[in-house]
Amino acid sequence: MHIQLLTEKIPVGISQCALGDPVRYDGGHKLSKVCTQLLSQCLELQPFCPEVAIGLGVPRPPIRLVASDRLRAVGRDDPGIDVTEALEGYADRLVPKAAQLRGFILMQKSPSCGVRTVPHYKADGSMPLAHGAGLFAARLREHFPHLPIEEVGRLNASDIRENFLTRVFAYDAWYRYVDPDPRPARVIEFYTAYKYLLLAHSQPLTRDLGRLLADAGQCEPQQFACEVRGRIMEILAHTASREDRTNALMHSQGHLNEFLNKEERAELTQLIADFQRGLKPLSAVLTMLRHYLPRSPNPFIHSQVLLAAEPAELGLCDFR
Ligand code: SF4
Repeated sequence: MHIQLLTEKIPVGISQCALGDPVRYDGGHKLSKVCTQLLSQCLELQPFCPEVAIGLGVPRPPIRLVASDRLRAVGRDDPGIDVTEALEGYADRLVPKAAQLRGFILMQKSPSCGVRTVPHYKADGSMPLAHGAGLFAARLREHFPHLPIEEVGRLNASDIRENFLTRVFAYDAWYRYVDPDPRPARVIEFYTAYKYLLLAHSQPLTRDLGRLLADAGQCEPQQFACEVRGRIMEILAHTASREDRTNALMHSQGHLNEFLNKEERAELTQLIADFQRGLKPLSAVLTMLRHYLPRSPNPFIHSQVLLAAEPAELGLCDFR
């Protein structure tokens, strides 16, 4: 299986205020240039504003999350306003449309869109009891547990941006290559193409996944495919450490050594060692590995997504 990571722009949902549209409760916006100028080069950003969609209008009374019988979205200044069911119902109605998306970028701290640090207040409105997801984000996660989701603000960090794009590319590739034909053989082909990239993100979890794949024949195909997709997305959510990346690059070199002369082998080994010590960029190693790739007739190494153009090389991770 030769997986092409980018064929056309990949559809990804985004909180509408991040595109600069004045849809916030106070009539303002939260434009993200990282999204509109950088990520838009490879992502087709589709805007959603849950609070406007449920008819709250602009401007509108601000809401916040309060823990009572359950977590509820109520008016900050008027507790009589309760849009809990409306927000969750909107997320439910969005399911057919969201099923076509390969990621979602959501605005941090919003009681609707926030993913991780939204305050959950006590019923009396005093101190926050905890922090967590907004109601729309939580419901979206329930419907699509493997969908890559990230907060707008966190995407300003290049390592988080790269990780998000890696997950979006993988999720999109799954839907193009496996979803139409989720037989175990196809699932294993996909895993095989991703194997060294997965190793670069987590060696122990990739080995666990390898053991699961060895039992492919025991499982119901749809359930098996869903389990593997979830594991792959979980592994890719781990940041690829320099050590794990080095290990994966050395595995790749192992497939090429027999086609290199002594000097070429030594030069490649030195380059990987320099990457490990932070002296050379990943792109330098990948360029050299790709240069030698045509010498090998081995389809396994040719299929490796690790050796495909990764987000940093596409110029999607450097932004000033
Ligand atoms: S954070 Fe979400 S609900 Fe709030 S304005 Fe932005 S898109 Fe709308």
